[in-house]
Amino acid sequence: MRNIRNFFVRNFFGRNLPFNYRIYMIFFFECLLISVVSATTNTLLHKGTFGIIFQWGFIFFCVLVLFIPIQTRMAIVKPLLLFVSFLYIPFLFFQTAGYEGTAGLFALLAVFLIAIVFSGKTRVCLVASNLVLLAIACILQYKYPHIVVPHESEQANFLDYMVALLLAVSGIAILGAYIKNTFEEEQTRIRNLLKKEERANKKLENLTNRDPLTNTYNRRFLIRFLESERGKEERLCVMMMDIDYFKHVNDTWGHGFGDEVLVRFASTVQGNLRKDDILARTGGEEFVVTLKDITLSKAEEIAERIRQSVSEIAFSNGAQITVSIGLVQAGADEEIDLILNRADKCLYEAKTAGRNRVVYEPLIIA
Ligand code: GH3
Ligand code: MG
Ligand code: MG
Repeated sequence: MRNIRNFFVRNFFGRNLPFNYRIYMIFFFECLLISVVSATTNTLLHKGTFGIIFQWGFIFFCVLVLFIPIQTRMAIVKPLLLFVSFLYIPFLFFQTAGYEGTAGLFALLAVFLIAIVFSGKTRVCLVASNLVLLAIACILQYKYPHIVVPHESEQANFLDYMVALLLAVSGIAILGAYIKNTFEEEQTRIRNLLKKEERANKKLENLTNRDPLTNTYNRRFLIRFLESERGKEERLCVMMMDIDYFKHVNDTWGHGFGDEVLVRFASTVQGNLRKDDILARTGGEEFVVTLKDITLSKAEEIAERIRQSVSEIAFSNGAQITVSIGLVQAGADEEIDLILNRADKCLYEAKTAGRNRVVYEPLIIA
């Protein structure tokens, strides 16, 4: 039982098989079932030897198709569908009472499938020609009623119609449900893929824009950011900061502790910034902060707060650090190198004046 199930899943309905193909296979089995029911009825009612042979021949062919390699089966999807809609169903039409019979119901299913399997102009042409074919068949029957094989009795008519109606309606329901389920599965799959891609993009962005040790931005990002801010209405303040006597920290407690200091320093500075402010590590123990839309005196307050918080960081080994900060306000269209040079100069002044202090230079408008 399990083997049979596996055989069907692997060959006809497996998730790895193309959507069109799976829909087509549902239709295929339905077509097979309808043909078996119809051929059995026709055989029992002795309705035209040629028609019966044609139907059983078609069934035999369909059963054979189930056992050919999947690639070949996929290759004959379209020709077989065309055969069914343009030959087999018209044949059923004339064989089973025309528009008083059941072929119209199956034509509905076939056109539905054509619309799924084909696309573009081919689809339009095929659907249109199928409609024309059905219309011609109806007109022919209307003009020359004797060309269709009528039902032998009211009872045969009733049985044929009821079976076909149930098969066609349940067939449409199965196809509809299957399409919707598959569509939802695909949507979930796409959503998951997008999420995965978003995560991968973020990771990549972090790799290219951030410093791996402190997770602050890197110089590359800072320069790009400053370039994008150039010429904007909002004024930008730029702080350049450098940890004092950092070499001494490394020499006394080791490089590993030095790294820990850099991480703690970065998170302390970050804790004093707003969402739009940027903190970037531009060298070993040198960082740059940009503050958006702020006056120089407000920026100076923030710089002072940062300086204070850094001096208060409590390390487990009792080490203490301080920071020197150079602060400038960027000119509206000032060159980036110029802004950074001015900030660097202020930082140098802070160092020579004894470190652990903020030096700022008001903007000189030329
Ligand atoms: P100053 O007060 O004048 O800034 O003195 P300083 O000792 O901080 O400056 P100096 O430029 O002499 O030393 C910086 C040290 O920072 C030297 C270098 O070994 C260390 N350094 C640079 N990058 C890293 C890093 O990623 N991790 C650690 N632990 N140390 C680093
Ligand atoms: Mg230093
Ligand atoms: Mg330095």
